[in-house]
Amino acid sequence: MPDHEGGETPHTPPPRDRKAEAQQGGSSDIFFAAVKATRMPMIVTDPHQPDNPIIFCNDAFTFMTGYTQAEIVGSNCRFLQGPETDRSVVDQVRTAIRTREEVAVEILNYRKNGSTFWNALFVSPVYDDDGELVYFFGSQLDISRRREAEDALHEAQKMEAVGKLTGGIAHDFNNLLQVILGYVDILEARVADGDRASRRAVEAISGAASRGATLTQQLLAFARKQELRDRLLNFNSLVTDFRPILDRTVGDSVALRRQLADNLWNCRIDPVQAEMALLNIVGNARDAVDDDSGRITITTRNVLLPEDADGEGGAALKLDAGEYVQVTVADNGPGVDPAIADKIFDPFFTTKDMGKGTGLGLAMVYGFMRQSGGLATVGTSDDGGALFSLYFPRASGATERRSNPALSKPAAHGVERVLMVEDQEEVGELGRAMLQDLGYDVVLAHNAREALDVLARDANFQLLFTDILMPGGMNGVGLAQAVKRDYPRTAILLTTGFADEAIDEGSRSYELIRKPYRRGELNERIRAVLDKPGART
Ligand code: ADP
Repeated sequence: MPDHEGGETPHTPPPRDRKAEAQQGGSSDIFFAAVKATRMPMIVTDPHQPDNPIIFCNDAFTFMTGYTQAEIVGSNCRFLQGPETDRSVVDQVRTAIRTREEVAVEILNYRKNGSTFWNALFVSPVYDDDGELVYFFGSQLDISRRREAEDALHEAQKMEAVGKLTGGIAHDFNNLLQVILGYVDILEARVADGDRASRRAVEAISGAASRGATLTQQLLAFARKQELRDRLLNFNSLVTDFRPILDRTVGDSVALRRQLADNLWNCRIDPVQAEMALLNIVGNARDAVDDDSGRITITTRNVLLPEDADGEGGAALKLDAGEYVQVTVADNGPGVDPAIADKIFDPFFTTKDMGKGTGLGLAMVYGFMRQSGGLATVGTSDDGGALFSLYFPRASGATERRSNPALSKPAAHGVERVLMVEDQEEVGELGRAMLQDLGYDVVLAHNAREALDVLARDANFQLLFTDILMPGGMNGVGLAQAVKRDYPRTAILLTTGFADEAIDEGSRSYELIRKPYRRGELNERIRAVLDKPGART
């Protein structure tokens, strides 16, 4: 109990020696024996002595605080407080003692070894048969684990709320950027070669909008609303295939090493997003290390997270127990200051100079890892630098080789009829303009019902190109399923800038292009769908 103003006690101490009674006299008493034996830490103080000292403590109290009986008895409880103890909570307890009332608080206390614990403290005055105040009784409980769990939950809820907000904004931005980028592409194709000024202007708009699109993708990734196209792959091959880009990111003056486990398990992830995540972490490491002595190491290994909640277990990492592929990136930079370690995954958190960091890189990594059923953590490397760990759940099955876009068929101009379905007016108009520009014959519908009406009148469409998220009951996946059933000769291409678990499941069996898409990319995907052997039989 915090210090008590002994001088304010209006009673003269009764003649009995209460300390002796508490220490010896009551030992025959069954309740006293129980108090001594209980695992709940308990103390008794004497308000009639100066400074309200502790006159009794049980073994559970010495165990919780690390002090011996001799160190405790005779002292005021304030020795449990430290610099981070909330003064207003201390004042609350002091007031209760002065006014002889019960009080229950949660207070940060310090053990003898200097470590802290959250103490659920209950203090109550004890009166004798004549209604005279005799003692104060304090029961305590170390509730650090509960407080930590609450803090973690609070942190998770905050991330969820920020994620919802960013996801909503990013979704709308995606559509705007789709319109800007789309018309830029159309303009670019029309500007005469000699018109240098117009060409420069178009290129500047295109560059700025592309940067906006990258930021939007990162926001969507953080909000876990990004359309993930996962496939079974081995992270070792991803690190190896990605080597040239990683080498270029790191540069010649910093050593980049790889320690890849033999027999690494496979995982089911979106390779493009996984590469982005790795690139972000390696890029940060590059920024953190010194030019000539910098060392960055990428390691892969199989790990088994056990059931236990302590130490290295899955629960401690907020992951389900089980098998994971762990990818770590260690550097020998200054490391991440523990004071900011729980903030670095927040969107817009950066310690870099204005214009150098957006604070979205690790937010994107965090969202992507969560969406992939894994987790990203930060710690300290053997060199005292930062150690980032990515945990991907193990997947069963054999890996598929990633298709090499360079080997795919060259894009050709189409002459086919396309039924485009898009509820947003501007995006729809743009899509129509893009497709017409590519030589397709386009009919635009604004929702699934309208599209089915068009098909009922005229089924001669080679391609259905539909947005996934649409109002009016049936979404793009539902429409695709209906068209596949009733018009099997019509090929299907879906588009979205937004992911949703329910939609994700249904959309997996269709080809998909992410928004915002560019003119060339759209043509390539349409050709891939239309020219696929057996696509329209
Ligand atoms: P940005 O790189 O734009 O600042 P990030 O989200 O990628 O945004 O990173 C957030 C912050 O995390 C960085 O500004 C930096 O303070 C810290 N950080 C990330 N990686 C490292 C590292 N390898 N070493 C030290 N600090 C790091």
